[in-house]
Amino acid sequence: MEKVRVRFAPSPTGFLHIGGARTALFNWLYARHNNGVFILRIEDTDRSRSTDEYIDAIIQGMKWLGLDWDEGPFRQTARFDLYRSYADRLLKEGRAYYCYCSPAELEARRKEAMAAGRALKYDGRCRDLKEPVPGVSPVVRFRMPQEGQTVVDDLIRGRVTFANDQLDDLIILRSDGTPTYNLTVVADDIDMGITHVIRGDDHLNNTPKQIQLYNAFGYPVPKFAHLPMILGPDRARLSKRHGATSVMAYYEMGYLPDALVNYLVRLGWSYGDQEIFTREELIRYFSFENVGRAAAVFNPEKLLWLNSQYIINSSSERLAELVIPFLVKENIVPEGWNPDKQWLARAVDTLKERSKTLVELARSLRYYIAAEVEYDEKARAKFLNKESLGLLTEVRDGLASLAVFSEAEIEKLFRSIIEKHGIKLGRLAQPVRVALTGGTQSPGIFEVIGVLGREKTLQRLQKAIKTAGGQS
Ligand code: GLU
Repeated sequence: MEKVRVRFAPSPTGFLHIGGARTALFNWLYARHNNGVFILRIEDTDRSRSTDEYIDAIIQGMKWLGLDWDEGPFRQTARFDLYRSYADRLLKEGRAYYCYCSPAELEARRKEAMAAGRALKYDGRCRDLKEPVPGVSPVVRFRMPQEGQTVVDDLIRGRVTFANDQLDDLIILRSDGTPTYNLTVVADDIDMGITHVIRGDDHLNNTPKQIQLYNAFGYPVPKFAHLPMILGPDRARLSKRHGATSVMAYYEMGYLPDALVNYLVRLGWSYGDQEIFTREELIRYFSFENVGRAAAVFNPEKLLWLNSQYIINSSSERLAELVIPFLVKENIVPEGWNPDKQWLARAVDTLKERSKTLVELARSLRYYIAAEVEYDEKARAKFLNKESLGLLTEVRDGLASLAVFSEAEIEKLFRSIIEKHGIKLGRLAQPVRVALTGGTQSPGIFEVIGVLGREKTLQRLQKAIKTAGGQS
């Protein structure tokens, strides 16, 4: 069988967004599933809207998602000679012609056609022109067959048929000699040996035109797979007003790339009821048979849930690495902070079940890392007062004289204090929790003490005793 060669061909007129990333992912999965080749091609011919900054951003987004490519990135602006040679071939073979109609004339004829209820396509006036029109720089148009049908056998949509008399004699070179989208795509896909064109279904209407170009060049048509649209929760096309659409915004919000990949693949693809997939599973299971035709609805809550699952299932060591930039951004640690990694992983371990994002994880780590706790005012008033003073003092003295500072020993100490007073663990744990974390919610109190260590714990209890009205 012919080796699979696919490409992701973004136009760098914006950041890598959810829809683009899903297209890239499906191409990548198809390539990896088939031991094929994944090519990155930057379609930057629209110079007024393409920027280097967006190219970098797209590359950064793909790297973050772990979508590695085998060839490229190629830039279309470096390939104009190729497109001209393709256009020349069509001119030479009479499959394309020069058109001298000015934009104003075309517009006037369009209006006329509209008023008369005729099709709004180019009327073919220059098709059989023998002589050039002096003083006019012409465009080059492709001579589209006007009879019969063009059939797209789409791997997702099935058979889609277009009547050729609806297809325009499309412009392939503008009057300044620059190539247009349909020509560049087909020339590149031929030149790069693309076997499967996988892209959003907003391109489906271009496909019959492109198939006719393939026919004119005498090349076999690749297979097409048009991915269903992505909608927002209100079922309108996904856009900025539905929240973040740029992939790197999800990095900033503390999402794990694997969680986003897992979420993106489910926008259109399914495999039974399975929700969580390793990358190896995705590569193994991926096929177009399991891609639905219906538009997919983007659901931010589900993405957040998936992210929490990925956080729970990540090793604490890895999370400790990943969370550091977020600790810096939250001003919890200075830039260049170099923690004891083992300690940080232990702290993370107590929090990962309670953190849906790396941002939440970083914020929760604050009380472990900060030199001093800041009390939540309500919690302080309720728990650090005359009533708890005696208990806090007993805990402090008990912890100070523990021979072994282990979670088991700490627990024993707490049990002996509550038994002595005949109280529930909460009565003791809550004031201690406020003393150590500043608030009333935290991981188990013995774990917290274990992570903080004896010295910090004693300092914080000391401060709490003072706050509660006691002496040292
Ligand atoms: N450059 C086009 C886009 O960004 C993609 C063209 C294609 O995949 O054929 O929409």
